[in-house]
Amino acid sequence: MCRRVPAVVIDVLTQPLQSLRGVGPKLAGKLSDYGVHRVEDLLFHLPLRYQDRTRVTAIAALQANTDAVIEVEVRAADIVFGRRRSLVARVQDGSGTLTLRFFHFSAAQKNNLRAGSRLRCYGNVRRGCSGLEMYHPEYRQLEEGESVNEDRLTPIYPTTTGIGQNQWRKLCEQALALLQRAAPQDLLPPQHAHGFGLVAALRYLHNPPPDAPLEQLQAGRHPAQLRLALEELVAHHLALLRLREQQLSVQSPALPPQEQAQRQLLQALPFRPTAAQRRVIAEIAADLARRQPMLRLLQGDVGSGKTLVAACAALQAISNGYQVAIMAPTEILAEQHRQNFSGWLAGLGIEPVLLTGKTRAKARRETLAALASGDLQLLVGTHALFQADVEFHRLGLVIVDEQHRFGVHQRLALTEKASGRSGRPHQLVMTATPIPRTLSMVAYADLDCSVIDELPPGRQPVTTVLIDAARREQVVERVAAACADGRQAYWVCTLVEESDVLQAQAAESTAQELAEALPELRVGLIHGRLKAAEKEAVMAAFKAGELQLLVATTVIEVGVDVPNASLMVIENPERLGLAQLHQLRGRVGRGQAASHCVLLYQSPLSQNGRERLAAMRESNDGFYIAEKDLALRGPGEVLGTRQTGDMSFRIADLSVHEDLLDEARTAGEALARDRHTEAELIRRWTGEKQRFASV
Ligand code: ADP
Ligand code: MG
Repeated sequence: MCRRVPAVVIDVLTQPLQSLRGVGPKLAGKLSDYGVHRVEDLLFHLPLRYQDRTRVTAIAALQANTDAVIEVEVRAADIVFGRRRSLVARVQDGSGTLTLRFFHFSAAQKNNLRAGSRLRCYGNVRRGCSGLEMYHPEYRQLEEGESVNEDRLTPIYPTTTGIGQNQWRKLCEQALALLQRAAPQDLLPPQHAHGFGLVAALRYLHNPPPDAPLEQLQAGRHPAQLRLALEELVAHHLALLRLREQQLSVQSPALPPQEQAQRQLLQALPFRPTAAQRRVIAEIAADLARRQPMLRLLQGDVGSGKTLVAACAALQAISNGYQVAIMAPTEILAEQHRQNFSGWLAGLGIEPVLLTGKTRAKARRETLAALASGDLQLLVGTHALFQADVEFHRLGLVIVDEQHRFGVHQRLALTEKASGRSGRPHQLVMTATPIPRTLSMVAYADLDCSVIDELPPGRQPVTTVLIDAARREQVVERVAAACADGRQAYWVCTLVEESDVLQAQAAESTAQELAEALPELRVGLIHGRLKAAEKEAVMAAFKAGELQLLVATTVIEVGVDVPNASLMVIENPERLGLAQLHQLRGRVGRGQAASHCVLLYQSPLSQNGRERLAAMRESNDGFYIAEKDLALRGPGEVLGTRQTGDMSFRIADLSVHEDLLDEARTAGEALARDRHTEAELIRRWTGEKQRFASV
């Protein structure tokens, strides 16, 4: 890739932290671990909240359980050996006396608190056995005749172990002082500044005046915050657009539609594609015919039939003599795709091959050889597809399924690796869960979007019920009844722990318990620790109806398709996000029978948990649920863990600043005309961790 280093303005702000007073290698290391590498990063490290220490309260006017500033004289200080050793100082002002108590203290501290010395203290006032007390107040010694005029609210910074508030304050003060010498350029046009220049906004937020509107600040809605959030959103948006431009600057093979093959595929199907599927198939067909790389996001609710759309795209590329790679997030899903594609395309002489991390060495060697020679036309797999030694002969199209599991950068790395003699492959990205418009604007601005907004006919909406785990037996009976009716059921075990081992154990013991409770049923078990062949065998048996109840971990979350399954029980659904629950639930309601989803929750539920589960009961609409999820959990979670790294904003918070997105787009368009400004803006906000900056 060609890297042209943009002319960067060298200023003091981009200097390393060690240029500041009090920062040695040790502190610099801690700060760096925390993501603060340069002076500039300190400026964007904004307080979480503020304390009002501007007013001194007389001791006589203090109220218990409030925070207050007092100015006092020490009368006596002693070490007291009670239940715990403590340093106790009696202090007074003209109006009364109070006790300061320290459980951790140094000899120097004891010596400083001599009778007669003056202190300014800040802390929480409580009522103790000797009247009013403060435990571990923050305090400073006042010199003879010194009076402090605190004219700002005191910032409380987000922090990590080993960096105290005072350290943050001193560091940020130094960084702010440097602004006088080297103010960063104001990059946002004034009409988008919300009344604040960059420097003014930073100064304000690090040290707001005493009359600042605290509630507005707390909510992230102060104009100074809006200005910074907007600037950040603009930067991210532009970064994605730049990325898109970079991607479009290369050529892809033109793959015009091959009508006959297409007709053959559709005629062999047991159903007719929906109007939405046909529309989207046509959009993709037109993209593929161009030499410009396709960069398309395909959104469609669970069960809307994205796989068929992918098969049509694959067929078009293959009929033009090119290879296709399909990447899925799990082995189970990859195997299922292989089966589906095989069923649809084998009649056309196309036999897909599976490649995952667990493929045996010999099979792997053969697959790689067939890929390199071009004999193999359609490869399905997990991210093992894009390991260094996988070489394609003529790769024309990459399809990424269930995109929310892969980040932007993974996606890029993938197509870059796959680019060969035949140019950059076209890209089709399919999301399992609809992405709220707001998120797609920031996370997928580099992609065109197609939506399947229609489910195949005859689908029954899934009825969702919430049942307290105390009534588990009733649910077990329900499973028995559904299976006695010739239906099949899933029982999903969830665990918060990421550990495969623990999840597998939980599922194993549940399977055992259910097998004992339901001796007439054939119970299967599937989890991430099984070998690929074992997973395949279990899924095949369930699909064939040989197993009636499938106990599973969330490995079945995405894509698994067994239309006869009409009941799903999810244990501890309160542990999962809405998108994940919606995905899981999407495993039922695929056939003609009325389907049910039982959310077997553990009470008591938190307020947030209650709201989330209620949203599941209210709606089967993935778009609605995605919006709710965003409001209740925030963008990082909605986009999936892997995506979070790409989406970590310093200041913007999409659940608070959603209304700024349209403005971000307008401002971005205006800004993009000036390449230098744009590059600087992207660098400022997305920094080194993004490759966007290397335009
Ligand atoms: P998703 O969009 O969640 O990936 P799938 O592609 O797995 O959905 O499709 C779900 C099920 O619907 C599959 O069994 C598929 O064969 C079937 N299907 C797809 N399109 C149609 C259609 N137009 N009519 C009926 N069934 C369809
Ligand atoms: Mg799917």
